[in-house]
Amino acid sequence: MPKRGRTRKRNWGVQDIDTPTRVANSRQETPSGRTPEDRVYFSDIEPNALLVSPYGSLAFVLWEGQECLCRVADSLLDRKRSILAPGDEVLVERLEDKPFVKAVRHRRNKLSRPAIGQNREKVFAANIDLAVVVAAAAKPYFNPGFIDRYLIAAQVGNVEPLVCLNKIDLVSQEPPQLQLYRDMGVRVVNTSCTNGDGLEELRDCLTGRISVLAGNSGVGKSSIINALDPRHELVTREISESTQRGQHTTTASRMYELRGGIRIIDTPGIRQLGLWGVVPEELDFYFHEFTDFSKSCRFRNCTHTHEPSCAVKTAVEEEMLPRARYESYLRIRRTLDENDRPTSD
Ligand code: GDP
Ligand code: ZN
Repeated sequence: MPKRGRTRKRNWGVQDIDTPTRVANSRQETPSGRTPEDRVYFSDIEPNALLVSPYGSLAFVLWEGQECLCRVADSLLDRKRSILAPGDEVLVERLEDKPFVKAVRHRRNKLSRPAIGQNREKVFAANIDLAVVVAAAAKPYFNPGFIDRYLIAAQVGNVEPLVCLNKIDLVSQEPPQLQLYRDMGVRVVNTSCTNGDGLEELRDCLTGRISVLAGNSGVGKSSIINALDPRHELVTREISESTQRGQHTTTASRMYELRGGIRIIDTPGIRQLGLWGVVPEELDFYFHEFTDFSKSCRFRNCTHTHEPSCAVKTAVEEEMLPRARYESYLRIRRTLDENDRPTSD
């Protein structure tokens, strides 16, 4: 039995999304008719614009310093897959004097989830430098489940994660689980929008990068964005009025430019993050701290749920593995077994 010690650290450095070293994913690319990402993504184009948000058969792009609504080449439209997502690097040309999205560059990474009620992938952000998951220290209560799911989505998509624990002013001590994430090599930033603690540290992490911000409703995502750039609230209101997108503005993910070179992809529709690209049998791969123990399980294909002589369960009972992470594993495993249906799209 291995000794109790620091959890194995993962190298969060970004690799190419298709590299075969991502063992778990390469084993699961074909089930359920998933389409490989080829034919529409090219490495040899020179992109001149950034996709802000797809919008039906059109797309908002950031082009020549301005946001504009463009037509999109037919080859980039497919109702069954997310060919374009916020963060995609695209080539825009003028066609009959109107901007037109002609091609999209090969993605270096992405974050995705299952589309609601459908067996297909919904990519909600591409080419991301940082996946920030925001949790509240209290009000609503600290919910590690969302963080654990998000860390898996980040690993699947090959994106560096960061945990932001907000509302730190409401507690005298941070939840012990946060140290686990640090031990896993994940950066944790404690913030308070009430007294400003940690906001400069967070700003440093975000400056000059494209980040995705996600978290349960009420944890303080809007407050953080507004604290980083008070103009943001105004800008988002103007955009939703000018496009008259009504309901859609609350569900589609979208990139925002904040003051000081901060780009944030906001994902307002995600209340519970469903996982795409993870099959139940491979879930333990994403719980790196289990690996040292799972090798000693009696059954090679042990699910660590009900089997006798399961070294993972024993390690939890002997407090060598954190119970909270094991419980997360069981919850996620249950939802994957039930086909992992998200509650919103
Ligand atoms: P969102 O749903 O994640 O965008 O959350 P909001 O930004 O709307 O914040 C939800 C509530 O939490 C609001 O009443 C905020 O004023 C409050 N809030 C946000 N950040 C903090 C914080 O750091 N400390 C405290 N005490 N309250 C906060
Ligand atoms: Zn086991």
